[in-house]
Amino acid sequence: MAVINILSPHVADMIAAGEVVERPGSVVKELMENALDAGAKNVTVELTGGGATYIRVTDDGCGMAPDDAGNCFLRHATSKLHDERGLEAIETMGFRGEALAAISAVSRVELLTRRPDDSEGTYVSVTAGDIQDMHDAGCPRGTVFTVRDIFYNTPARLKFMKSDRAEGSYCVQQAARVALGRPDVSVRCVKDGKEEFFTPGDGKAESALYAILGRDTALSMLPAEGENEGVAVTGFISSPAAGRGNRATQFFFVNGRSIRSQSLQAALEQAYKNTLMVGKFPACVLYITLSPGAVDVNVHPTKNEVKFSAEKRVFDAVHYSCVSALQGERDTLKMRLSPATEKKLSPQAPPRQEAPKKEPPRQMTMELHSPPPAYGTGASVVYTPRPAPAPTRRPAWQAPVRKAPTPMPQPAPAPEPKTDDTPVRVAGEVLRTYIVAEQGDKIYLIDKHAAHERMNFDALKARGREIMSQALIQPQTWRPGPEDREALGENEALLREMGFELEPYGDEDVVIRAVPEGMDPAQVTAALEEIGEKLRTGARDLARDGILQTIACKAAVKAGWDTDPRELQVLAEKVASGEIKYCPHGRPVAVTLTKKELDRQFGRIQ
Ligand code: ADP
Ligand code: MG
Repeated sequence: MAVINILSPHVADMIAAGEVVERPGSVVKELMENALDAGAKNVTVELTGGGATYIRVTDDGCGMAPDDAGNCFLRHATSKLHDERGLEAIETMGFRGEALAAISAVSRVELLTRRPDDSEGTYVSVTAGDIQDMHDAGCPRGTVFTVRDIFYNTPARLKFMKSDRAEGSYCVQQAARVALGRPDVSVRCVKDGKEEFFTPGDGKAESALYAILGRDTALSMLPAEGENEGVAVTGFISSPAAGRGNRATQFFFVNGRSIRSQSLQAALEQAYKNTLMVGKFPACVLYITLSPGAVDVNVHPTKNEVKFSAEKRVFDAVHYSCVSALQGERDTLKMRLSPATEKKLSPQAPPRQEAPKKEPPRQMTMELHSPPPAYGTGASVVYTPRPAPAPTRRPAWQAPVRKAPTPMPQPAPAPEPKTDDTPVRVAGEVLRTYIVAEQGDKIYLIDKHAAHERMNFDALKARGREIMSQALIQPQTWRPGPEDREALGENEALLREMGFELEPYGDEDVVIRAVPEGMDPAQVTAALEEIGEKLRTGARDLARDGILQTIACKAAVKAGWDTDPRELQVLAEKVASGEIKYCPHGRPVAVTLTKKELDRQFGRIQ
């Protein structure tokens, strides 16, 4: 006896509906996308509570003919795709002809629509997929969809709904996502009678950003721009100092469609390597534009995942746009003032809803294969070339010695720094920690250790595998913990490349024969302990940077030390030129104060 049963169209519809309409927020997204596809310039989203009881989306788009107004609720009914060839290059948000069928299968829907040239519009009401009523109706041009009682006929789904508050805020988030993707369309979102956001639709990304993410976020972001083999990137990314606790503020749009992509997330985050504090994530609103044929949107019913035919090209375009934006950030951090003072200093803070005054985005030229920046410290340090590693003497480490890692990738390309010729004068040092310097009408307070650490780190990175080694006149014997000893032994080749020369001595000790250039021999055991721990606990691919960070730190001047004025001068110049901004751990190296700000504080000017 046959056991296979063909499901009724009704059940099949319900199953399909579940994929498209996961939550009320999915309804918001799908209806808004339809409005955009209809060429709307103004879209209004209204909802109450969590959206399950009431969602209304109004647009001023092309509207529908009376027949289409009835047919649009059928499965696979779409005006956007005609044959399989169309699937190769999707240029609209929708194309599957599923959303309205899915939404109307699990709720009560009313539609009111009129094309601009028609004298009358059409009204349709649909409950659980069946048309209840349909007639001519007078209405403004465009389309209004009202969706009530989502999941009223699918109790299983209803059970999984979160609180009204959670679902409602998810609806607003979805609306915000769609609105951010299309700054050329004005979107108003109203929840429980209160306006959640309103984007002006002036075509400027910064206006949409300002309206949706708020003033503080919008003003703290840096413009990013780039192009790589047919993939264009524009948008904004956060400065390293404005890291977030999670990734909720990362928005990627591909041809206007909001998508999730681990690869793009990595492209963004890798640009912040060594500048963002651990556990912090950058924010971004990035628009990626490429030929519709080079991206496959037909991956998932919710259409928020895509496949790129040239993934690496897109990755590089995003990555280098971000790298460049971060390197182009010339201004050191503004000194953090109390809110009251800040208010006083910026009397004409723009009112809410007004577009922020942003400089025009800086142009970038991408030089993907440019050589690492030439780097001279200017300090009076003499480097001895690293002696060639002794080929025969293999130390008897307990653990097997691993192969040397592959050569280090070239550091990210740096745009030519714009030089400000105004001389920098070091006025002095305070607390034996901070350098006070002036340049024109700017005053810098510089953390000398952090700045020196970054300078060393950049120099080490730029040198790739050529890190110099300095032999110790008096080799040191040191007893590491057994775990550190093993970790260091396993990474002997890597450490040798970095300028350390270590040799096991007896069962427990290690002889240190050479250290990386510039490292104070008194610091070497502390450095090796730190490196041992990083090697044991860190990801392998981060080991190299981790070691460089330690070397940079241990070779840097310390707070509390007396420092040669010439070194202070070098550091101040690097900061003033914008060459160094953050220490390798992501902390700022300097704060800036302008004469105007000081004059205001002293009441010399208003
Ligand atoms: P898709 O968007 O994938 O085509 P939908 O089920 O979302 O599928 O919509 C079906 C069709 O209904 C669309 O192709 C479009 O022709 C029509 N439609 C839906 N919403 C609107 C709207 N707001 N304005 C004009 N036409 C619409
Ligand atoms: Mg659609």
